Amino acid sequence: MKTMETTAARDLSKFIVPSIKSFEKHHGSFAFKAKILFYADSSHYKTAKNLCKVFKDIFGLEAEVVSSEESSQADIVLKTDSAGGNPESYSILVRPEMITISSPSGRGLFYGLNTLIQLIERDKNGSAFSVPCCRIEDQPEYQWRGFMLDVCRHFMSIDCIKRYIDILSFYKFNRLHLHLTEDQGWRIESRKYPLLTEIGAYRGKSNYGGYYTLEQLRDIMDYAAARFVTVVPEIDLPGHCQAALAAYPELSCTGGPFEVSEKVHVIHEEAFCAGNEKCFEFLQDVFGEIIDALEPKYIHIGADECLKNRWKACSRCQQRIKDEVLADENELQAYFVRRIASFLKSKGVTVIGWEEILEGGGDRDTIIQVWKGCREVAKECISNGYRVILSPTSNCYLDYVPARIDLEKASQFDLNIADSPAEKELVLGGEACMWTEDTPQEILDSKVFPRLLAICESLWHGAAVENYQEFANRLRSHYNAVSEYGIEYNCSFPES
Ligand SMILES: [Zn+2]
Repeated sequence: MKTMETTAARDLSKFIVPSIKSFEKHHGSFAFKAKILFYADSSHYKTAKNLCKVFKDIFGLEAEVVSSEESSQADIVLKTDSAGGNPESYSILVRPEMITISSPSGRGLFYGLNTLIQLIERDKNGSAFSVPCCRIEDQPEYQWRGFMLDVCRHFMSIDCIKRYIDILSFYKFNRLHLHLTEDQGWRIESRKYPLLTEIGAYRGKSNYGGYYTLEQLRDIMDYAAARFVTVVPEIDLPGHCQAALAAYPELSCTGGPFEVSEKVHVIHEEAFCAGNEKCFEFLQDVFGEIIDALEPKYIHIGADECLKNRWKACSRCQQRIKDEVLADENELQAYFVRRIASFLKSKGVTVIGWEEILEGGGDRDTIIQVWKGCREVAKECISNGYRVILSPTSNCYLDYVPARIDLEKASQFDLNIADSPAEKELVLGGEACMWTEDTPQEILDSKVFPRLLAICESLWHGAAVENYQEFANRLRSHYNAVSEYGIEYNCSFPES
């Protein structure tokens, strides 16, 4: 993003995505001088330094951070709001002589700045910049505002992922969930199990694939953290693992051989053998390496769509059911998941799983990502004390064609499922999902946008967009800012 389109008649409150909770327009405007002076209290000095770079990159304006003695001359002041409150909240006061952004946290200041960037007007020559005087108060309704990217069915470059982190953070998303392992490819380095990537990362005659080293992923996580985005790595188990079994067939029930799958849109039957201790050793080793290298706060362990046919026919799996006095293969999955989750918990990691992780019994420390039977399943989860992330296929699956989920449908994502404040605490937020069976990197934007911005709007406010026409019009005004990212929309806009 380099520049923002502006017109004299633009009504700024009708331009911003996600919309602001409270916007009060005052008389006059703040005009930027050739050089912008920032002042921040010491805890936000680094944020202010980063902002200087942002202003240079976006607007070509020189900027520097001034000392406390010179603070009265500052153009933009970043202030810690000592009253506390929601750490993601912020307020902006624009007066003719100074802009003040306040928040209880650096994260809130960052969001305030991203709102300010959307407020800046450029004159006709493109050389003078101003912001209308106003007062803004804003905060999100839910703490988890995520985007899931499947880098397995199609591999995405590091540059592509970083560009998405830039975009996500600009729109105040705070989680990037990377789906790193699948039947069609294993995309994360393991030093102890090198065949995972030597064999598991590439498929078919074309040798299509790729993977990230632990060092590269650490770099991605640090890049994201600097933009207040937490990366959630997903290693899917006990199903969706044919690529791993192609590398290490001894971890399967049948012994293989297997190929990294080229089939998509089918649920594969292969799973890690739940009766084989080596599988637990393998997974603990892999997770141990990830934890050491990436220090993730969360790890997603999938647990979705495991068919269990292989377990039914496997003498070791059946022996495990007997030894552990389990009722059936569903309880065997719960046993499998519990062992891995206990290991991760012992390392201080919070575990997340798709809703099928509850098959055969669950653990209330695990966060449940609900996708299939969203409203009903999510309500049942929170009434049983589980924390949930909502990703309903009805609104949040961006791989679905626009004929199935158009912009309006995406804008109707409703997070209001709780019947009490205590239940609402358990609804962490939601996540847009981008599965890439049919989506190579070249056409990723056309699938993601503009629907991601509809979900962004719902996530920030915690409810379905009430006035779709207003939202669609606002998005249209916003379009030029987005087009500076090189994003191409492929979703019909209603005519205003
Ligand atoms: Zn087995």
